[in-house]
Amino acid sequence: MSGVTLQKVVKRFGEAQVIHGVDLTIEDGEFCVFVGPSGCGKSTLLRMVAGLEETSEGTIRIGNRDVTKADPSERGVAMVFQTYALYPHMTVAENMGFGLKMTGHPKAEIDRKVAEAARILKLDELLSRKPKALSGGQRQRVAIGRAIVRGPEVFLFDEPLSNLDAELRVEMRVEIARLHREIGATMIYVTHDQVEAMTLADKIVVLRKGKVEQVGKPLELYHNPDNRFVAGFIGSPA
Ligand code: ADP
Ligand code: MG
Repeated sequence: MSGVTLQKVVKRFGEAQVIHGVDLTIEDGEFCVFVGPSGCGKSTLLRMVAGLEETSEGTIRIGNRDVTKADPSERGVAMVFQTYALYPHMTVAENMGFGLKMTGHPKAEIDRKVAEAARILKLDELLSRKPKALSGGQRQRVAIGRAIVRGPEVFLFDEPLSNLDAELRVEMRVEIARLHREIGATMIYVTHDQVEAMTLADKIVVLRKGKVEQVGKPLELYHNPDNRFVAGFIGSPA
């Protein structure tokens, strides 16, 4: 079991408190989407789950493990960012396998996992290419492939499609939905795109100024927003 639980999570940067006691349960295998205005703390929450930011107060659990103080590498999470920094001198296959290579996995196992990720993401034909010979969408697939290859229990996506044009966003959104169906891992996905939130989410978390404003299934929030703020993010007229 690898759901994610946040209990009374607080984050301070120096004097400034940016996350104010967040309680949240994300079920094993759930696709959870965080929405909310710029600066409300979406990335900070995700980075705390990943272990890239320390948690000032409270507890973060993955499955039944308390990971609040664990190293990022011990958490069983992989994060996909908006900007995908691929190594330009490495092929697609090498980029995807690099993390496993650094942690000493045998070549045969790396090759097998890279091939499996390439199949899922339809990158089979591109494995020997260098990043500069790829389109933006293909590069973002490689970045997602890098996460898949690590076999995480939890995938964290921070606005992964924001840099892509509209047509490609739709295509990649379908790919990410398929990835979730196929792998079944727990996913937390940050976006400011309402359509992405409505179509991908099992559960949407609306954040406002470092607090949870409302949590619910997409259609619950759409039809029964608690207030105008939530309605503004989910798209129904309040
Ligand atoms: P979002 O991803 O929702 O746009 P962030 O999580 O990036 O928001 O930021 C939440 C708040 O925390 C913002 O006010 C931001 O300025 C602040 N913040 C984020 N990272 C840092 C940091 N490293 N140092 C100081 N303040 C930060
Ligand atoms: Mg952000």
